[in-house]
Amino acid sequence: MPKKTLRLILGDQLDEQHAWFRHTDPNVTYILMEVRQETDYVKHHIQKVAAFFVAMRAFAARLQKLGHRVIYIHLDDPENRQSFEENLELTIRNEGVSHFEFLNPDEYRLDRQLKDIAERLALPWKIRDTEHFLTDRDAIAIQFAGKKRYLMESFYRRMRKEFDILMEHGKPVGGKWNYDVKNRKPYDGKVPIPEPLIFNNNVTDIVETIESSGVRTFGKIRPERFIWPIDRSQSLALLKAFLKDALPRFGTYQDAMTTQSWALFHSRLSYSMNTKMLHPMEVIGAAMIEWERREEISVQQVEGFVRQILGWREYMRGVYWDLMPDFSEMNFFNHDAALPDFYWTGDTRMACLKAAIGQSLEHAYAHHIQRLMVTGNFALLAGVHPDAVDEWYLGIYIDAVEWVEKPNTRGMSQFADGGRIATKPYISSARYIHSMSDYCRDCHYRHKEKFGDHACPFNALYWEFFARHRDRLASNPRIGMMYRTWDRMKEKERILNRAGALRQHLNSL
Ligand code: FAD
Ligand code: SF4
Repeated sequence: MPKKTLRLILGDQLDEQHAWFRHTDPNVTYILMEVRQETDYVKHHIQKVAAFFVAMRAFAARLQKLGHRVIYIHLDDPENRQSFEENLELTIRNEGVSHFEFLNPDEYRLDRQLKDIAERLALPWKIRDTEHFLTDRDAIAIQFAGKKRYLMESFYRRMRKEFDILMEHGKPVGGKWNYDVKNRKPYDGKVPIPEPLIFNNNVTDIVETIESSGVRTFGKIRPERFIWPIDRSQSLALLKAFLKDALPRFGTYQDAMTTQSWALFHSRLSYSMNTKMLHPMEVIGAAMIEWERREEISVQQVEGFVRQILGWREYMRGVYWDLMPDFSEMNFFNHDAALPDFYWTGDTRMACLKAAIGQSLEHAYAHHIQRLMVTGNFALLAGVHPDAVDEWYLGIYIDAVEWVEKPNTRGMSQFADGGRIATKPYISSARYIHSMSDYCRDCHYRHKEKFGDHACPFNALYWEFFARHRDRLASNPRIGMMYRTWDRMKEKERILNRAGALRQHLNSL
């Protein structure tokens, strides 16, 4: 009897360059499945569910075209048992499978589940590396062993040296590791914002199936003109468009927010990378070639971009594996408020939140500063339970997979880890939002006021946050100054009263 191997491919493992696919073998069958266990663990944006399924279908078709044997279980197949375990058991029986293999899952939940399933199958089984990441899962645990907090900057510098990216004779190109001072400008209209490249994919069939199967989703979609890339060739086209149009200004405007554009100079490549249709090193390599080729691209632009992928992306993954599973329970401030209703509708008079949530519902996308300093900032100031915040971010974004969503949300944005990732909470009053965006211009609220019916809610909530969490924050050397300012303020009581009223009526702001 020849050895018959079944290889499982998860929805975020769509990497046709993986060694698995280098040769065809009639005794190897690949299996992909659309299952309710994956659509239902949180409520997802309809575009996210559609994007993963359509990309999986395209990937299965591509493998078949390359000569591989593929089993694809659709969401509405009558035989679909809607869980990995049951579908695998059935397939193994029906196909006479003798060996089972899978690629390292990137989520803790699936990592545990697949190992448990493999143990129970009573077959020889093997795990392979996804060949996607540039570091091992334990890279952060090793580098920061025994330290109280991690430090992205030292991780990033190590990565630059190790991979010899933007280095010259052992020194950073341009003489600096970091160009943040030159970067991070508000959008000033000096250069036009590129029109985002979108794809007019027809995903009507998939959306009908998702809806008729009763999967609970939210958000908007135009199924006949689905904008996100669904395969590697579209992902490469998105990369090319980014390099041509947006990389030359990426660093300068990476923290800017404007009502004039939902994507500004961002790449929107996170979904393509997180599904592994693109490899992070091929994205970094392409940016380096573009920078070397075009004089008008300064080092500050390309460094800003490289830092996100070589630095933040790998760093967050390492943090995730170091902190899980306890990470999911962390709630440093003991926050317990519910997420305001307008996070699901965009129906609020606060112009910044309306813009950030509105475009998230429209496109399943917001760029980093919108996620961190608008929606994340407000949730933290409002004292929302980190579980609710995590659930929202995991559901709403096209690129949301837990290994990168959780460290960004629960760690960086909500400080629920007590400062392992960030040295102080990412909170701000209206001052920061006003300085980095045009949102305040047409807002119902006044960005300079702290109390009164029209005062911007961020202002009172910001100061009240410090007052409320004094016992946890006063000893933080990066925050001490804020307490000295607060202690000198004459309007403390009015601010606290305003904040109390706001927190009681979050849903109607
Ligand atoms: P660009 O601005 O063009 O950046 C290029 C690439 O760098 C991104 O595609 C991404 O792969 C990487 N990158 C940038 N910032 C980060 C970061 N902080 N962590 C990890 N990688 C980064 N990113 C996700 O991929 N999935 C998520 O679920 C996710 N959730 C987030 C939740 C919160 C609260 C915050 C503050 C950030 C989150 N991020 C997440 C990180 C970041 O916001 C997105 O990666 C980015 O906005 C994706 O858009 P882009 O591809 O246009 O990024
Ligand atoms: Fe947001 Fe306040 Fe500015 Fe309105 S005034 S846009 S609520 S920061």
